[in-house]
Amino acid sequence: MEDCIFCKIIRGEIPCRKIFEDENVFAFLDIAKDFDGHILVIPKKHCKNILDCGAEELNLLMQGVQKVCSHLVNNCGYSGVNLVNCSGESAGQTVNHFHIHIFPRSEDDGEKVFPTLGGAKLSLEEMCEKLKIN
Ligand code: AMP
Ligand code: ZN
Repeated sequence: MEDCIFCKIIRGEIPCRKIFEDENVFAFLDIAKDFDGHILVIPKKHCKNILDCGAEELNLLMQGVQKVCSHLVNNCGYSGVNLVNCSGESAGQTVNHFHIHIFPRSEDDGEKVFPTLGGAKLSLEEMCEKLKIN
């Protein structure tokens, strides 16, 4: 993908703070500086998001995510992680190369990564009827 910013990072055409790389995945610090240790893990093979990703690529990406998360907890002093993914414009995806955000967590970091949501409008019964896979 010629113009994809994350493909350019993988190719070394744009600088980044690399955390981990193997033949399938690449992990680097998010440039936002909104949270200490905010990491992005991306597949080396370009795909847009979870809706546009083969099972094998997804598998490899999640193995990479797990490797980074384990390192954070086992070697870097963190006790947990939040994982976030935005797939699709309506979900807030701004870079169209599949990526998982990792937020390393400590008991006393004072942060709240999981959003406070507005409250459900429909009953669980209605939503279950709408969403269940038959
Ligand atoms: P999303 O909104 O889920 O698509 O996330 C895209 C993320 O990519 C944002 O958190 C950006 O801060 C991050 N980002 C964009 N450009 C770069 C870059 N050159 N290096 C590191 N992170 C980036
Ligand atoms: Zn790409």
